[in-house]
Amino acid sequence: MILIFSAPSGSGKSTLVQYLLETRQDIELSISATTRAPRGQEQDGREYYFITPERFEQLIKEDAFVEWQQVYKGTYYGTLRSEIERIENAGHHVVFDIDVKGGINVKRMFGDRARAIFISPPSIEALRERLTKRGTDSPEKIEERLAKAEIEMADAPLFDTILVNDDLATTKKELDKELATFLG
Ligand code: ADP
Ligand code: 5GP
Repeated sequence: MILIFSAPSGSGKSTLVQYLLETRQDIELSISATTRAPRGQEQDGREYYFITPERFEQLIKEDAFVEWQQVYKGTYYGTLRSEIERIENAGHHVVFDIDVKGGINVKRMFGDRARAIFISPPSIEALRERLTKRGTDSPEKIEERLAKAEIEMADAPLFDTILVNDDLATTKKELDKELATFLG
């Protein structure tokens, strides 16, 4: 089975995906390739495969990606076919942490094998506050992410489920229920 998590940046998607990965042994995160630089404690092969734009373009030509997007101007992210094979060979369900457009595409590709979950912030203001408090992005980057968030919110109805991440403990419980239903 495939679990897709998409959300405007700062909604709490990473927090929730991390929670699931820590509490369930039957799921594994699909590690994407990206051309952006590592942030903070991020390590190559753990959060992402950090590669150069040249290598990324080469992999596109080789049809090595299940899907890829230029999520932010000049920054590419993509899911390698080899990554899905690796996880399926290990007998695990695949977790996608991808942007909204990518999430919709992957849902179309996998149909009923996939559950697409949209994590929504309670409001754009709450999103601004979370991104500011997280302290990992410059004010310009935060504005860029907020502008994108407003557009992404409009695609939420294309997902199988929308979870509004207001109180974190409540969202975690809702997520547990969602996975129990889908994965058993
Ligand atoms: P995303 O992966 O969607 O960009 P993060 O998981 O990094 O978002 O969350 C953004 C920030 O908001 C983090 O600092 C995180 O600790 C915080 N956060 C996550 N969920 C909540 C919540 N329900 N209420 C308040 N803050 C939250
Ligand atoms: P960040 O730079 O904050 O790690 O990620 C930015 C956005 O890119 C997030 O919404 C994340 O889910 C998305 N993303 C990460 N990997 C992929 C991928 O392989 N494909 C797509 N379409 N988006 C991705």
